[in-house]
Amino acid sequence: MRLFRSSEILGIARETLEFALEASEATHPNEYMGLLRGEDARKFDLERRGQVITDVLVIPGTKSDPQSATVKSNMIPNDRKAVGSVHSHPNGVLRPSDADLKTFHKGNVHIIIGSPYGWRDWKAFNSNGDPRSLDVLDVDLPEEQFFDFTQADIDAELRAEGRDPGSEESER
Ligand SMILES: [Zn+2]
Repeated sequence: MRLFRSSEILGIARETLEFALEASEATHPNEYMGLLRGEDARKFDLERRGQVITDVLVIPGTKSDPQSATVKSNMIPNDRKAVGSVHSHPNGVLRPSDADLKTFHKGNVHIIIGSPYGWRDWKAFNSNGDPRSLDVLDVDLPEEQFFDFTQADIDAELRAEGRDPGSEESER
């Protein structure tokens, strides 16, 4: 099962980053956790090829406390748009824990957001847990990007993708 796409991550949409910062603050003192999803950069008048992170998928059944957020692995959809993860550190430490490093091998970009959840209170890491750059991009997103998915939404999306396999490849 290939959970994450490999194409280059150009950056994160400004609204998506704001959303994740606000969600992390709202979840404090517990950890916030979600999957980052990308869209093809060609949808956004960007000259470069790759993916733009445009929304955060909160996995149904995620259990969260101040030290950790645990995702039930059987609830993780085989999501072709997933490019990495985002989670918060209520203690404000902007580096991956040993437990984080064990999960970072899936996906190309992993954002850690720390208390007090201000505009600079986040860092991006690669799959090895090393810091990486992540541009914040001003792109227009449709409003419906922002809601917490339910399992029914995920199933519907997977069914829709199953009806039209390979459509993204054929756009080239
Ligand atoms: Zn962590």
